[in-house]
Amino acid sequence: MHWRKDGSCFPVEYWSHPIYRNGELVGAVVNFIDISERKRTEEALRESEARYRAMAEQSADWVWSIDVEGRHLYTNQRGAAILGYTAEEFLAADALKLVHPEDLPLFHETLRAALATRQGWQSVVLRWRHRNGSYRILESNATPLFGEGGQLTGFQGVDRDITERKLAEERIQFLAHHDALTGLPNRILLRDRFEHAREMARQSKSRLAILFLDLDNFKVVNDTLGHAAGDQLLLDVVERLSRCTRSGDTISRQGGDEFIILLNEVPDLETVENIAGEILAAMSEPMEIDGRYLNTSCSIGISICPEDGDDFDSLLQKADTAMYNAKDSGRNACRFFNEAMNLQAHEHLLLQNRLFQAMVEEDFQLHYQPQIHAGSGRVVGIEALLRWNNPELGEVEPSRFIPVAEESGLIVPIGSWVMVEACTQAQAWRKAGFADIGISVNLSALQFRRTNLIESVAGALNRSGLPPHLLELELTESILLQDAENNLETVRRLKSLGVRLSIDDFGTGYSSFSYLKRFAVDRLKIDQSFVRDITSDPDDAAIVRAIILLARSLRLGIVAEGVETLEQLDFLRAEGCEEVQGFLFARPLPAAELEAYLHEHNK
Ligand code: C2E
Ligand code: MG
Ligand code: MG
Repeated sequence: MHWRKDGSCFPVEYWSHPIYRNGELVGAVVNFIDISERKRTEEALRESEARYRAMAEQSADWVWSIDVEGRHLYTNQRGAAILGYTAEEFLAADALKLVHPEDLPLFHETLRAALATRQGWQSVVLRWRHRNGSYRILESNATPLFGEGGQLTGFQGVDRDITERKLAEERIQFLAHHDALTGLPNRILLRDRFEHAREMARQSKSRLAILFLDLDNFKVVNDTLGHAAGDQLLLDVVERLSRCTRSGDTISRQGGDEFIILLNEVPDLETVENIAGEILAAMSEPMEIDGRYLNTSCSIGISICPEDGDDFDSLLQKADTAMYNAKDSGRNACRFFNEAMNLQAHEHLLLQNRLFQAMVEEDFQLHYQPQIHAGSGRVVGIEALLRWNNPELGEVEPSRFIPVAEESGLIVPIGSWVMVEACTQAQAWRKAGFADIGISVNLSALQFRRTNLIESVAGALNRSGLPPHLLELELTESILLQDAENNLETVRRLKSLGVRLSIDDFGTGYSSFSYLKRFAVDRLKIDQSFVRDITSDPDDAAIVRAIILLARSLRLGIVAEGVETLEQLDFLRAEGCEEVQGFLFARPLPAAELEAYLHEHNK
């Protein structure tokens, strides 16, 4: 402080500079500066800061300042209290530890951008951990702080606690997309899920199914037992529905007693039918409401995407129509929208029931088709083909019933029967003097996967006495490609029994040459679809030529299936395929007729 002449005083800042002469201090230059102006500004600043803090302490929001590292320099008591601390505790702690770990990147990015642009930020939402472990949601706004030299020294700002608002928003969102009673998605959310599922199904080339479900007697329950009982029944229904569906499926309530179920990634109609069947069964079990047992049932209409369309509203409409058909047909039933699908599903069930009967009653026959050596006209092999003549359905084609037998697993016992029957018959012909004619038996993939295949084959050979090298098993390419390691082991065990293996319908699968060697295949059967157009379609001709060459180079036997004309025969012989099978020589024949054929051609 220095005094003026008039007695007033003012602040002075001085600096001095020593003066040396020949290394000796001889004096100093001293500078005095009147800094009263600067002091006034500083005072004003202090006052304004005090005012700011006083205001901050009144605020309902969190008022704070931080340095450029993000460390808190100041917080109002209110702000610390939002997180359950006093201001002193908060400043002493490492505040960054309180930011939700998932939000830390946003925090750092915000600070980085603010430092780079020398600007603050607006409405950045971060979650902070409260002392009690819960999280508060805070919306942050900030402005930059500069030092005297204009350098950025930090930020100050205000955070607003928006936790309650966010929760309310989420609740509103939930209510807008869900049914209040059951908490299930409503139609708006279902539509959303559908759009998403449709994209997934497009990529995986699978289907979606929409099941429209309506309770058959809900109105009666509601009217006689009251709404509370009705609500309880609906909750019970939801429980049952979720037991019948898979985790990725969506169950949605459409108000009243209507539910819509979206099935994702549906491989085939049978899957849909099975799920619908389970729902019908689950619903028809009595429900206990207020100590009473109520008998319930429902009707289900089904539409399939993409077969019935691929837009949500029209699929819903179609499922709804199908649901009314189900109700008309006497309730407690399900119906596809598409009539052909109803027939298909119906036939599937019918065939499955009748097949089961046929298996129990051994109601099958085998027919036998000879394989001919083209040069000599002699029979060199015989393929056993399954026949089923049902009193009610008539003669059913293998292409119709074998897929059903495969899906239901019935092909395993049926296949065992075929094996025994074919081996026994072949042995009988052998005994009758046709010594070296092999018998071919078709195998399906399912038989291959069941471990008792080896026992079944060994058993049939034992019972019949047929030498193993006269039994040929026809596999499809798909058997060898699926689950190759397990199947390789099964093939090894089959080969160790001494039986022969052929690939049926060769060329229609992946025709991967590597497995032919790995699985030690003996013979290829050229699929009839190539043989059919061999003389008119150059592509088919080229494929057949290539298969013959391949078989030769791998020293495999080769037989052409489905030979119907002399032209086809000539082509095959010219290319070097001598063994042929087809209507040109004989259709599949009952055992007695084939025996007559043998007498005629293999004298
Ligand atoms: P596959 O093993 O390829 O049998 C050949 C099919 O072609 C037979 O049909 C036969 O009747 C037919 N075929 C033979 N020559 C000609 C011809 O010149 N022209 C035409 N258009 N067709 C001819 P089928 O008997 O209806 O059997 C169809 C399929 O059912 C068989 O195809 C086989 O995959 C399966 N299958 C038949 N029996 C059995 C069996 O016992 N077990 C298993 N798992 N599948 C069987
Ligand atoms: Mg075959
Ligand atoms: Mg075939």
